[in-house]
Amino acid sequence: MPKNIMVYSTKSCPYCKMLKSFLNEIGMNFQDYDIGKDARRAKEMVEKSGQMSVPVTDVDGRIIIGFDRRVFMEELGLAPKGGQRKYDLVIVGAGPAGITASIYASRKKMDFVLITKDIGGQTKWSAGIENYTGYQFITGPELTEKFRKHLEQFGMEIREGEGVVSVERKKGDFLVRTEKGEFSAKTVILASGRIPRKLGVEGEEKFLGRGVTYCATCDGPLFAGKEVAVVGGGNSALDATLQLIKIAKKIHVIDVAPKFRADRVMVEKAQASGKAVFHHSAEITRIFGNDFVRSVTVSQEGKKYDVAVEGVFIEIGSLPASEIAQEAKKNEYGEIEVNCKCETNVPGLFAAGDLTDVPAKQIIVAAGEGAKAAMSAFEYLSKSK
Ligand SMILES: Cc1cc2nc3c(=O)[nH]c(=O)nc-3n(C[C@H](O)[C@H](O)[C@H](O)COP(=O)(O)OP(=O)(O)OC[C@H]3O[C@@H](n4cnc5c(N)ncnc54)[C@H](O)[C@@H]3O)c2cc1C
Repeated sequence: MPKNIMVYSTKSCPYCKMLKSFLNEIGMNFQDYDIGKDARRAKEMVEKSGQMSVPVTDVDGRIIIGFDRRVFMEELGLAPKGGQRKYDLVIVGAGPAGITASIYASRKKMDFVLITKDIGGQTKWSAGIENYTGYQFITGPELTEKFRKHLEQFGMEIREGEGVVSVERKKGDFLVRTEKGEFSAKTVILASGRIPRKLGVEGEEKFLGRGVTYCATCDGPLFAGKEVAVVGGGNSALDATLQLIKIAKKIHVIDVAPKFRADRVMVEKAQASGKAVFHHSAEITRIFGNDFVRSVTVSQEGKKYDVAVEGVFIEIGSLPASEIAQEAKKNEYGEIEVNCKCETNVPGLFAAGDLTDVPAKQIIVAAGEGAKAAMSAFEYLSKSK
C-alpha cells in the first residue's frame, strides 16, 4: 500500500473531483493541494510533472497525470474488478445519453455493463447550465455529480476509465473490445458523444498540457493573472472566455470568422469585461515556447504577428466519437444515422446523443435520446427471446 499520496488539483476541475472521490471511495488517505490558491504547490507540481494541467498525483514519488480509474487501481496495487461474460446490453459512454440509458436499463432490470472513459462527458466542461429542466442554474461539475449519484443509486456495473476500441457484430451478437479486454453482448447502445476538434498547427501536440488545453473549466485556474488565447468564436469559445475573465489578466479571442457565432448575451458579457481582446478573421498558425507556451503566431488578413500568451484554450468545436462502430452508417459529418427509435442500420445496435445525426446537441436532448435507446434495446431483446 502506498504511504504518501499527494493530489495537485483545482477547485473547478471535474477530473480532480472524480479522482478525490475515487480515493475516498477506496479508503486511501491523501493530501490535497489546491494549486489555484497555493502558488508554491503549483510550482512544485509543474516541476515534478512537467505539466500545466491538473490533476497530478504523486504516489510515493511516482507521478500520475490525469485521472484514469484503471491506472490508479494498478498503481495502488488493487486488482481491477469484473470478468468476461455475455451481457444483454453494453452501453458505451457516460455523458447524459449513456447515463440516462443506464438508468432506464437498470429500472428494466436488464443485464448490462456501462463502459466509459469518464462520467459526465462534455457536461463537466460547462461553466453554467441554464437550460436543463428543473435547474434554473447549475454548473457542469455540479450536474455531473448529480448524474453520478443517480447512477450509483442503482448499483450497476460501471467500468469507468476504460475506452472502447471497437464494436463489431459477430455471429448475431456484438463483440465490444476495450483497452483492457473484450465483452460480448446481444445489444449495444453507443453514447460516446463528441471529442474536441484539433487546431492542427505546429506546437499543438508538443505543448499539450504545457499551456495548450481543451478544457477551460479544468485548467483555467492555472493561468491566474496570465495572458491567454482562446481559439474559436462559437458558444464553447465564449463560455471559455467568460470563465477566464474571472481568472486571467487578458484574453485574446482569436476567431477565423469575421464575426462571432456565439449567443449575443455571451459576446456582450465578454465585451463588457474590458479584459478580452478580439482578433476576427484571424488564425493561429503556430504555437511557440520552450518548455511551456510563450506565444502564438496569428495570421490576419495577410498580416502576421506574434501574441505573447502562456495558455492556449482551443474551442473550435468537436467531432463525433463514432469511429469505434465501423459498420454503423454515418452522414457526411461522421454522425451515426438513427431513426426515431435510436436504431442504426445494424440490428441490435442503437445510438443516442451527440454522436448521432439528431439535431440540437444539448444535454436534455441527449438524455431524452438515451432514454429512448434503452427502451428500444429492451423491446428488441423482448422480441428476440
Ligand atoms: C463547453 C460546453 C458547454 C456546454 N453547455 C451546455 C449547456 O449549457 N446546455 C446544454 O444543454 N448543453 C451544453 N453543452 C452540450 C452538452 O454538453 C452535450 O450536448 C451533451 O453532453 C452530449 O451528451 P452525450 O451523452 O451525447 O455525449 P458526451 O457528453 O460527449 O459524453 C460522451 C461520453 O462517452 C465517453 N466516451 C467517448 N468515447 C468513448 C470510448 N471510445 N469508450 C468509452 N467511452 C467513451 C466519454 O468519456 C463520455 O463519458 C455544452 C458543451 C460544451 C463542450
